[in-house]
Amino acid sequence: MDSQQYTADGGFVVAKLDDLLNWARLSSMWPVSFGIACCAIEMMGAMAATYDLDRYGVFPRASPRQADVIIIAGTVTFKMADRIRLLYEQMPEPKYVISMGSCSNCGGPYWQHGYHVVKGVDKIIPVDVYVQGCPPRPEALIGAFLELQKKIGSEKNNITKTLKNTKQLAK
Ligand code: SF4
Repeated sequence: MDSQQYTADGGFVVAKLDDLLNWARLSSMWPVSFGIACCAIEMMGAMAATYDLDRYGVFPRASPRQADVIIIAGTVTFKMADRIRLLYEQMPEPKYVISMGSCSNCGGPYWQHGYHVVKGVDKIIPVDVYVQGCPPRPEALIGAFLELQKKIGSEKNNITKTLKNTKQLAK
């Protein structure tokens, strides 16, 4: 059947598959329900009724296997580092990381004397967006998701990533 029959003015729509996949991904970012310290309270605030991150399609999931974003909200101790890496590795591709707050970005108030604190979560997993503050307000986290949307919107070679993801899920 001709695609022109589906439009009101006899035209048709052409789009790149990359753009369609990007649009679907940036409109439904699902973060893992995971928080480490005080920054996580602000993260919860961003998800709650006042700020309502749901309106951007951001919907927390209780399993890393169903999530494509992880927000590192809190102090990353050496004890937690392995757990964070494990959660990240359990997420399917494509996956994204938001580092929320000074502790996660660089060690925060523990930067100089915190012998037990990793000086930046990017020493363990790759970070896509950093959010500054101690703690950052919910608006700052919303801003991080908007930045991430821009990044996802400009991605290329989605087919390769989708095939990789399908293979990973089939295992
Ligand atoms: S950055 Fe500040 S608010 Fe966030 S976890 Fe560290 S000490 Fe707490």
